[in-house]
Amino acid sequence: MPDDLLTRLRRFHDDAFPAYADTFRTLVDEGQHPTTLFIGCSDSRLVPYLLTGAEPGELFLVRNVGAFVPPWDGSAGFHGTAAAIEYAVLALQVQRIVVCGHSHCGGIRALYAGAPGGALNLSRWLDLGREATLPVAEPTPEALRRTEQRAVVLQLERLMAYPMVREAVEAGRLTLHGWHVVIEDGEVHVFDLAQGCFVPAAHAPHAGTGPYAPYVEADRPPSAA
Ligand SMILES: [Zn+2]
Repeated sequence: MPDDLLTRLRRFHDDAFPAYADTFRTLVDEGQHPTTLFIGCSDSRLVPYLLTGAEPGELFLVRNVGAFVPPWDGSAGFHGTAAAIEYAVLALQVQRIVVCGHSHCGGIRALYAGAPGGALNLSRWLDLGREATLPVAEPTPEALRRTEQRAVVLQLERLMAYPMVREAVEAGRLTLHGWHVVIEDGEVHVFDLAQGCFVPAAHAPHAGTGPYAPYVEADRPPSAA
């Protein structure tokens, strides 16, 4: 019986890698200098490189259920997402942080429906989206969509509680971006602080969120919405 995964690994080496060999050689020799920390949901339908057209070496990726950011609470625990944020900002000095949620998010749905039995860590992890929920027992598709978007904004607010993030944002070295991908439409909606809502990329004046003065000043959207 053929091992499909092994076949794919060999195909990568033989067919795909040669086109990128020089790129990877340079990334090894000169090290990585990604400009973007991308915090995205783990959902298999969210494909950051496809969305952004990024090449190898451009995105520093963190993925977790819901694209959540844990609070900065000084507890220094086994916090993978917090560790990645610290490294991206302090060592890699990324210029932007994207928080990317999406339509039909199972993590967001679980905020209403609950996690599978025995998923102790998942149940606790979902608390990071709890504040985004709406006071409804049976969420409609529209309520789920709004919750997904509210959760993105909530994570952006939490990011600003990270001292190294706040410092870089206030110094104008770092911008925050809140995105919501509608998987079935191929449309990314960008959070626009000035308008207080998510705007389809087709109509958005910029890919950034603001949410803080220096960036909003420089990228104020035109009056037409
Ligand atoms: Zn998701």
